[in-house]
Amino acid sequence: MVLVYIDQSQGHIKKTSFEAASYAAKIAEATGTDAEAIVLGTVSDDLAALGNYGIKKVHTVADAALNNFDAQVYTAIIAQAAASADVIVFSNNTTAKAVAPRLSVQLKAGLVSGAVALPDTSNGFMVKKTVFSGKAFANISISTAKKIIALNPNSFSIAITGGTAEVVPFAATIPAAKVSVTHTDLVTGEVPLGEADIVVSGGRGLKGPENWGMITDLAKLLGAATACSRPVADINWRPHHEHVGQTGLAIAPNLYIAVGISGAIQHLAGVNRSKVIVVINKDPEAPFFKAADYGIVGDAFEVMPKIIAAVKKLKGV
Ligand SMILES: Cc1cc2nc3c(=O)[nH]c(=O)nc-3n(C[C@H](O)[C@H](O)[C@H](O)COP(=O)(O)OP(=O)(O)OC[C@H]3O[C@@H](n4cnc5c(N)ncnc54)[C@H](O)[C@@H]3O)c2cc1C
Repeated sequence: MVLVYIDQSQGHIKKTSFEAASYAAKIAEATGTDAEAIVLGTVSDDLAALGNYGIKKVHTVADAALNNFDAQVYTAIIAQAAASADVIVFSNNTTAKAVAPRLSVQLKAGLVSGAVALPDTSNGFMVKKTVFSGKAFANISISTAKKIIALNPNSFSIAITGGTAEVVPFAATIPAAKVSVTHTDLVTGEVPLGEADIVVSGGRGLKGPENWGMITDLAKLLGAATACSRPVADINWRPHHEHVGQTGLAIAPNLYIAVGISGAIQHLAGVNRSKVIVVINKDPEAPFFKAADYGIVGDAFEVMPKIIAAVKKLKGV
């Protein structure tokens, strides 16, 4: 059996989990078995609809205490659900980064994180993943009986197969938590950066936080999330959760618009999996242009108002 961990937030399944579900279903198909899912916490979405992505059975542990993520507790439960699994699939996000290595130790299972393609099962079990901050690929062979894969978001297309999954409660032994959540601050009303299709991002070239209106205006018009380079977050022009790159969030939107960002290798490490990159920079020698699909050499303070006006005209607003 192939088991996929389904991430939920506020009772809703995350889009990247549908990619992971489709990926798990394809592995199951290739290895002649079924794909099943495990969901922790209380979920308002219709879990039977995971059948649409090729999942045959969904195991749920609908305990409200699990709505707060706890890596040790989650690992213990997923390990129980994975008792009869040959392959366990995660979407490669912060949850997977905390749980998959722990699970790998508990289950003595080989782990490949950052997978970008279906495993090659023609001779063993070979998984392609990104290495060197996305600059190269490596093919890793997993030889253990159980195998864990953390799939990079936006690297595998969601496949709608049709169908309804059987939803069954999973009688897990839930260990006592060693940490407790006392307070949660939720960012509301914004497109979550890790899940956004379009991201508009600003760098030090914007000179100061008072000029961020052009980033947020364009983002609002495009239904995009906003991001920034690390120095921008370090000097408190923008909140830290917007920082993308090697030491920030790694994202893979369909469109990444970088405004006044030089394109240092540490920044590119977090955004170079974007499908289309648009760079606006006044320096024609800025390294970001080498990674760009479209580039505008120009002053952001002149270019951005023109783009915003053009998008408004296009949208009739
Ligand atoms: C270990 C380590 C980890 C790091 N991790 C990260 C990370 O995760 N993410 C990250 O972003 N950085 C990271 N950095 C920092 C990184 O090396 C760069 O210093 C940083 O990305 C530069 O940010 P920036 O492009 O906003 O600023 P700058 O390098 O100052 O570039 C500003 C750019 O704006 C352009 N510009 C200026 N004025 C205008 C204008 N009016 N219109 C248009 N363009 C204009 C300039 O030509 C320039 O290209 C890391 C560094 C180290 C050493």
